[in-house]
Amino acid sequence: MEIIAKPADMQRWSEAARSRGLTIAFVPTMGFLHEGHLSLMREGRKRASLLASSLFVNPTQFGPNEDLSHYPRNFEGDCAMMREVPVDVLFAPEPDVMYPRGSQTWVEVTEMTRGLCGAGRPGHFRGVTTVVAKLFNIVKPHIALFGEKDYQQLRTIERMVEDLNFDIEIVPMPTVREPDGLAMSSRNAYLSHDQREKALALSGALQAARTVFKAGVRDPQELVRAARRWLENNPEVQVEYVEAIDAKTLENVERIEHPVVVAIAARLGKTRLIDNMVLTPE
Ligand code: AMP
Repeated sequence: MEIIAKPADMQRWSEAARSRGLTIAFVPTMGFLHEGHLSLMREGRKRASLLASSLFVNPTQFGPNEDLSHYPRNFEGDCAMMREVPVDVLFAPEPDVMYPRGSQTWVEVTEMTRGLCGAGRPGHFRGVTTVVAKLFNIVKPHIALFGEKDYQQLRTIERMVEDLNFDIEIVPMPTVREPDGLAMSSRNAYLSHDQREKALALSGALQAARTVFKAGVRDPQELVRAARRWLENNPEVQVEYVEAIDAKTLENVERIEHPVVVAIAARLGKTRLIDNMVLTPE
């Protein structure tokens, strides 16, 4: 696996591959890899001649009181996991290379980032779309894979790609879970043994919403109530939001006639967790 730190070197690598007629799949990450990341990489491996990944804990998507300084890191371990896939090239820049003095350009998707995580994390999605747009210009992939685990991020990036005419196919990938249902996340490393148990309330609440939906309920607020009831049985879990909204536009719906996503954000102590589930009416 080649490791590249400079944007210009990465661009040269990709141009050389493209001029040989090779295709490039890309999986951007913030590292501390788990099976969720690896599932994206393995799929990327299958879909293109070359697989590129990036490891960059992007400062612009963290708020001033968020976990940037103690976000979990394990560069050597991540490289070992990437070599196993195998990843062909890893782009791992330093923050001052991505955001040199004088940077002042932002990419912002407006409507779609107002609700859900956007409401509680002002500026977060602007940081995400800016860094992903930069990474797309640096890595020059043909396709890029993103996890449904970060559902609003996935839809926002699809919106950006369409709105800005990026010539890149976005491939959504299903959420990889622990055997007991907890969605895998680098942030699960923050959880104590006790919190790890309590964290199951999120996937449990989604299952509760699904049960109501399967019984024929088509009022999204009924699904939200079912999920909230489940979460309320776990007072240690502080709910930030529970919503059931259109799975494509992320807008409110009166009645479920098209796929909806039930999305949850909650805190266990200082750790913020998210999870979601898409429900599709017949
Ligand atoms: P991150 O390193 O958290 O920025 O995530 C990098 C990519 O991996 C994003 O596209 C995430 O949506 C995806 N991802 C993270 N966790 C999971 C998971 N449990 N299942 C599938 N994809 C995931």
